[in-house]
This record gives sequence, C-alpha cells and structure tokens, in this order.
Amino acid sequence: MAPKKSTRKFQAEVSKLLHLVVNSLYSNKEIFLRELVSNSSDALDKLRLKALTDDSLQSEAEGSIRIWAEKDESLLFIEDNGIGMTRDELAENLGTLAHSGTTKFLQEYQGDASLIGQFGVGFYSAFLVADLVEVTSLAPGEEQAWTWSSDAKESYTLAPAKRDTHGTTIKLHVREDQSEFLDDWRLRSLIKQYSDYVTHTIELQKPKWGADEEGDVVIEWEQVNAGSPIWQRPASEIEDEQYNEFYKGLSHDFEDPRCWEHFTVEGRQLFKGLVYVPKRPPMDMFQRDHRRGVRLFVKRVFILDDAEDLVPVWLRFVRGVIDSDDLPLNVSREMLQDSTVTRTIRKQITKKTLDRLKKLAADNREEYEAFWADFGSVLKEGLHLDADSKKRIAPLLRYHSTQGEGWTSLDEYIERMAEGQTDIYYVIGESEQAASGSPHLEALKKKGFEVLFMTDAIDEWGVEALGEYDGKSLVSAMKAELGLDESDEEKEARETATGELKGLLERIQEILGDKVSEVRLSSRLTDSPACLVVPEGGQHAYLERLLRAQDKGQERGKRILELNPVHALVRNLQKLHELKPESTSLVEWTELLYDQVLLTEGSPVDDPNRLARRMTHLLEQASDAELAAS
Ligand code: ADP
Repeated sequence: MAPKKSTRKFQAEVSKLLHLVVNSLYSNKEIFLRELVSNSSDALDKLRLKALTDDSLQSEAEGSIRIWAEKDESLLFIEDNGIGMTRDELAENLGTLAHSGTTKFLQEYQGDASLIGQFGVGFYSAFLVADLVEVTSLAPGEEQAWTWSSDAKESYTLAPAKRDTHGTTIKLHVREDQSEFLDDWRLRSLIKQYSDYVTHTIELQKPKWGADEEGDVVIEWEQVNAGSPIWQRPASEIEDEQYNEFYKGLSHDFEDPRCWEHFTVEGRQLFKGLVYVPKRPPMDMFQRDHRRGVRLFVKRVFILDDAEDLVPVWLRFVRGVIDSDDLPLNVSREMLQDSTVTRTIRKQITKKTLDRLKKLAADNREEYEAFWADFGSVLKEGLHLDADSKKRIAPLLRYHSTQGEGWTSLDEYIERMAEGQTDIYYVIGESEQAASGSPHLEALKKKGFEVLFMTDAIDEWGVEALGEYDGKSLVSAMKAELGLDESDEEKEARETATGELKGLLERIQEILGDKVSEVRLSSRLTDSPACLVVPEGGQHAYLERLLRAQDKGQERGKRILELNPVHALVRNLQKLHELKPESTSLVEWTELLYDQVLLTEGSPVDDPNRLARRMTHLLEQASDAELAAS
C-alpha cells in the first residue's frame, strides 16, 4: 500500500503548550536555535551509540549539524544526519509530551505566557520564531522518509517524503518579525554563544559565490563551533560565561546555574566531571518519575541521560556530565546498577557537590540561603538515606528558630547556646506558626533555650538519623524525655504535686482509657494546662498525620498526657475530684481538655460535634454566671 498523508490532533497538553509558545511575549526567542541544535546533537549521539553495536552504521558515526537560510523565502534549515525518526516516532515525539512534569506544570499554570521560561520547551520552541514548521526525517534502515508539519494550531500532518540519508531536516518558515534569524552574522553569534561546546561539528553555509565549471552553484560549509567538550578542557582555560552557556544547553534551563564544580578524579579510576546546582528547582523535583540530570559519557562518547545510579536521589536537582575512562562503551543501565565504577562516581559527585555547597555557604550567605529555601528539603533526605554523607550534610542544614527571623545553622545555634544548655532543641510541626505556639516550648523559652522549627515532612526522619551534632544531642521538645535539669526546689515541688494529684491523674487516665498511654505531671509547661508528648520511639503528630493521609489504616500512636501541676484549671479539677469523684462534669471537662490538646498539636479531634456541643454548654454556663454577677 502506498504511504498516505494523514492529519492528527495534538495531545491536549501539547496544544496548550503551543498556545503558550506562539503567544509568548518572551524576549529570549533566540533560544529556539540552541534547543534545535541540542536535539540534533542528541540525535547524533544516539546514532554513534547505535553504531557501536550495528556494523552497518559504523562509517556513519561521525555526523554533523548544518544550518542555512534561504532569505528570499524566509526559510531557516537545521539539518543533522543523526538517528532520525520513523513515522510513529514523529507522531510520538512531536505530538505528545513525554515528561509528566511538564504536563503537570501546564495544568497548574495555564495561560500565563510569562512562565514559559521555566520549562524546557525543546522542539516546540521552534514556534517562537516560525509560523509553520516542517520536520523531514528518515531513521536508519527505513525505506520511507516522512514529513511532520504543523502551524501549531490544533493538529499536525504526516506525509511521505524523500530523504536520501538518515537524519532530520527542520524547515522553519520564519515569521516576518523574526527575520533577524535569517542573517548569517546573527546565526553565527548565536551558535558561538549557546552551542560552542556541542561535541559535534556545527556548520553554517558560506554565502554562495559563483558556480563551478558545469555552472552549478558551489556550496561551501564552515565549522562555527569550537566543538571540544568543555569538561575535557582545563578549568583554568574556561570562562564563567562558557560554564554558564554549557549548563543552559545541557539542562534547558533559562537561567545561569547557582554554582558548579569541575573536577578530575585520578587514581584507580579515571574520570572527569562537571556538576551544576541550578538556581531554580526542576519542575519534577517532587515527582516520583523525576529525572536525574547527570549525563554519562565514556571516553567522550555519549552513553546515557538521566543516569540515576550516578546521583543519589537526594541530589536529584544536580545537573552535569561525567566522562569515564574505565566503563566499557557498551555499558547499559543494568550494568551500572551494580558496578564499583558507578559507586566511585556517585561518591565523588556527592562529595564534590556538598563541598561546593559548603563553599557557597561560606562565601555568600544570601546565595546559599536562597539555595536552601528551594532545595533544602531535598538535601535533607540525605540524612536519612545516606549514612555516609550525614556528616557532610549536617553543617549545611538551616532552620528557622525561636531566635527570630532568618535561617540558622547548627553551628550558629551552638554558639548561641545559653548557659547550662547541653542539648539542641527542636519542635516538629506543620508550619512555623503552629510550631512556635506549641505549649511544649514554654519551659524552654523560660530558660532562654533556643528551639529550632522543623516543618518539613522529612525532618523527623532526618533529625532522628542525625541524632547529634558536634557532640550535642538533638532533642525534640515534644518527646517524653526532655531531660531538662531541675533544681532541688523544682524537684521537690513536682514530687509533692505528684502526691497531691495522684488521685486525679488516675481518674483522668480512667476517663481517657486507651486514648493515651500515660497521664503524668509536666515540668515543661508554664502557661498551658496540658500537652501531649511523644513516648520514646513514637512519631510526632505531624508526621503521623502525613502518613495517615496516605494510608488510612495507619494507627494513631498513643501519646502521654502531661498536666501542668500549678495551673489553676488543673488545681480546680483536683478539688472537684476530691469533693465529687463521680462528677459528670469532671468527665466532660477532661474530654474537652483532651480535645483541646489534640487541636494544639494540629491533630483532628475524634468527634468535632461533641466538642462543639460541650463548648456551647460551657459558654452558656459562663455567660449565665457573668450575667448573674453583674
Ligand atoms: P526533549 O529533547 O526534551 O526530549 P523535545 O521536544 O525537544 O524534547 O523533543 C522531543 C523528542 O523528539 C526528542 O526526545 C527526540 O526523541 C525527538 N527529536 C527531536 N529532534 C530530533 C532530531 N533532530 N532527530 C531525532 N529525534 C529528534
């Protein structure tokens, strides 16, 4: 059957993306060239890799990227002799969005064209400057070439085409107002600026002069890019600007990186690495199918993208390249999983990145804090996941604290520690506001001890894994054993109170039944009548809520109810208990008190209606009393 032309609708997200691109007032339209060149370069890399195992392609492995304009027709061409695309691949790659991150991003930010700079639009950026794009491609081994074409409205067309060799030609019908991109000098400077590092040759057509003996126009090509991989060159020869441009090409980021580290590892294994920390988090950073951004090369040949075994998950925002001299060229993802070379590389990437961040923190507090605000919660995962790196991560940690505005490091906390303070205190809560108002802080505040706010879901695991810093234990203000030193007087007062209140404590335990594991007197409260504390080995309420949100079956841990022995309410309850041990008010008020401590720790109460009824009842009584007295 003869191949037929067909027209298809774009996936809805692609339409949305194209709409954004076409209507974008984004001033950096020139990035389309970098994106298309980067796609061509990837296609050449893929062919080179395929040629390693496919003899028929061996002579073709050295490809190039060619760029030329036909000014009279307002056409710009970008051509490569790389891996090409079959008809199905054209439809799949240029008609749907592969990364769920982009899809999700689009769902959240529909319609705001100014946000376009935040995601790598890749191929679709062609529509920043063209109103019609034609992509003609032939995959190696295929007979039939195909042309994908679209005006970015709703659909694209696939039609049979002619192409002699494998590879892809992109034909842009450049919009009238974007004709600068047809100029030789403009193209030349863009290639130099954005794509100098591309490892394949990028050639521009020389202006046509005269004709040969047969009268045909002679076309000559001129290599424009330097073409040597930046990571192979000595760091001393590379300008910051070149590092920045290489990063942007590699990551499709629109902003310069925050910092980078360029290193060589010699010894039993030999490899070079260049790793970057971005300014802004990648869109998919908190998604399960996030990509890790380190590309693996072996002896300068591109091997694979998104090499997840090379980067620990808690450094998933790092972008860069690793070029190993030790791995075999035919290394696969599976082989990487279990190799000592991989382990060494991962260790080095981890070390170099953390060292670089440490330097950033030392050199520029503001920059580091900006990094921390966006990436801190990911870096903290490392405390829990990577015992070997804990010690390196700890000095990089930053928290807000009762000390006031701004971030503090653990070192700074220790410097400020009050006299007689031996531990580092923290509270865990949903937000700083919730944590700072927590009754658990009362005694610590009174003693002048600073408390760190831990408001990330990951904090509970992280801080438990860390355990101590610089010889000081990390102690939760909400845990049962707070270990605050008591003066002899305080101790005596507490023991007397325990004797006096013994009956009440037992009665409250009886009323609350198995809702709490213990009822006891507290030394951590000054203003509040009661609070719940977490027994040894138990989880904080915040983490428990998060886990319960994911798994309804998760049991609620039993906490210890602590009462403030000097609080008037507690004293009144005690009197009531002495006078009328069977009082129903005692039952009601105890339950109310319990509901109230649940609310202060942010946990839901079992029966909100009952709580509301009781509150109303109490208010009624209180207002009656007030009126009677007036
Ligand atoms: P990305 O490059 O981030 O995957 P793009 O939108 O730029 O996203 O491209 C989508 C896909 O189309 C690429 O992943 C690649 O498979 C394919 N593609 C684009 N350009 C080319 C090309 N010149 N040669 C071969 N395949 C290409």
